Amino acid sequence: MGSASAGFDIVNSPTPPDPANLEFTADQMRQMGGNVLDRVVAHIASLSAQPAMGDVAAEAFCRTMREPAPELGEALDAVLDPLFCDYIPRSFTASGPGYLAFIPAGGVFPGALADLISNGVNRYTGVWMAAPALVQLEANVLDWFRDWMQFPATTRGLLTTGGSMANFNAIVCARERLLGPDLRDGVLYTSTQTHHSVAKSAKLAGILPDRVREIPVDLDFRLEMNALAAAIDEDRRRGLRPFIVVSNAGTTNTGAVDPLNAVADLCASQGLWHHVDGAYGAFFHVVDGLRPLLAGLARADSLTLDPHKGLFIPYGTGALLVRDGSALRAAHEATAGYLPDMVAEEFYDPSQYGPDLSRGFPGLRVWLAIKLYGAARLRAAIAEKRQLAVDAARRIAGIPGIVMDAPPQLSLFAFHLQWPGASLEQQNIATRELLQRVNARQRVMLTGCTVNEGRFLGRVCVLSFRTRQSEMDMCVDDVAEAADAILARC
Ligand SMILES: *Cc1c(COP(=O)(O)O)cnc(C)c1O
Repeated sequence: MGSASAGFDIVNSPTPPDPANLEFTADQMRQMGGNVLDRVVAHIASLSAQPAMGDVAAEAFCRTMREPAPELGEALDAVLDPLFCDYIPRSFTASGPGYLAFIPAGGVFPGALADLISNGVNRYTGVWMAAPALVQLEANVLDWFRDWMQFPATTRGLLTTGGSMANFNAIVCARERLLGPDLRDGVLYTSTQTHHSVAKSAKLAGILPDRVREIPVDLDFRLEMNALAAAIDEDRRRGLRPFIVVSNAGTTNTGAVDPLNAVADLCASQGLWHHVDGAYGAFFHVVDGLRPLLAGLARADSLTLDPHKGLFIPYGTGALLVRDGSALRAAHEATAGYLPDMVAEEFYDPSQYGPDLSRGFPGLRVWLAIKLYGAARLRAAIAEKRQLAVDAARRIAGIPGIVMDAPPQLSLFAFHLQWPGASLEQQNIATRELLQRVNARQRVMLTGCTVNEGRFLGRVCVLSFRTRQSEMDMCVDDVAEAADAILARC
């Protein structure tokens, strides 16, 4: 160790001479940081060799982990060894290249650097006054999102912990704007394919389950406009107050994009708020050539986008845009005697636009990633994910026995296994077995979903920035091999 003033060796012996002093010396911090960085870099470098699914059958293991808070500190290596060797590997390799399950996440390295910086400097970004230039970075990020989504200058936004909280805040805005204090008769409309966070958010926002209508979808899993219009009419006849439609820019099940323009027209004529849940799909809007796939998205009253999905940022990064920014502000504005005076409207004050006061600094993750890569590289990666999905779907559709129920509208497709004379039940069992066989090879990880009253589908969602052509080739090969093995028995 370099400096004698280090006092104690945190790596080998954590016991300090002055226990109330929680500060580390500069040498110790470098040593600890270097240790952690080496482990993280080794982990990232080995991602493609790690099992895609991981071993998550860990109930017994988790029971052995329970322990009281330690009275004395431990050495850094003693704490990090089990973390990296035993705990992290017991997980879906969600940041690995073979992760085609659920909606894949990102985890670009600049995001990790940003968290080290923001946690290291630990500045207060809850109110503008406390760190104006840092808050401006976050305001820039929200303005970039606004421009990419082609929202107007009146837009204000909010960085959230994820898409669920963005949906929640959007429903609160619509409720405040259109219902005022009488919530009970307000009705929310969405499709049967909508993410469960919408019903959960509605409930948290005071819109109870008997006021949430799940409208049927068409053969492409898109919201049925006639059924939506009829449901709104019916509720009005009953004296209820329709106030919001939540549509999808990419559903979680099959990647369906609702008819966003038609929903926007209906909402405009009916005086309803149109919220678009783009947690999965919104970032495809930044690619010029793909924008037509999301036609009408830019007309929404509010939009959920999830940078920790489609922009490849680490978990904990969601976002909401609200076309009339004053609605977002009205829903969240609050003050207190001990807080600084409110700032001019020109500047963005996070606590006036969202529920948090003290908070982390999620904007730095997004800002640093966009600054380091530049928008062009991020667009190239997003466009590539779409192309990989389209190509793989075409090849998988050609595998004997595969029926492509949902070709990619964005970068997600879903299919099932079928053969002459097979019952729905037999097809479901076979499709589940197909996923098990693919996942058992640990090269890619797939998950399924149930649609249309009991039909089980296998899904492939391409959204990890680490997924490239080689993983898609493995995916196609593994699906083909599994389908062949299962059909050979039928
Ligand atoms: C992932 C997802 C959500 C929820 O977002 P979180 O970031 O997981 O909270 C909502 N809607 C859709 C369509 C999603 O894919």
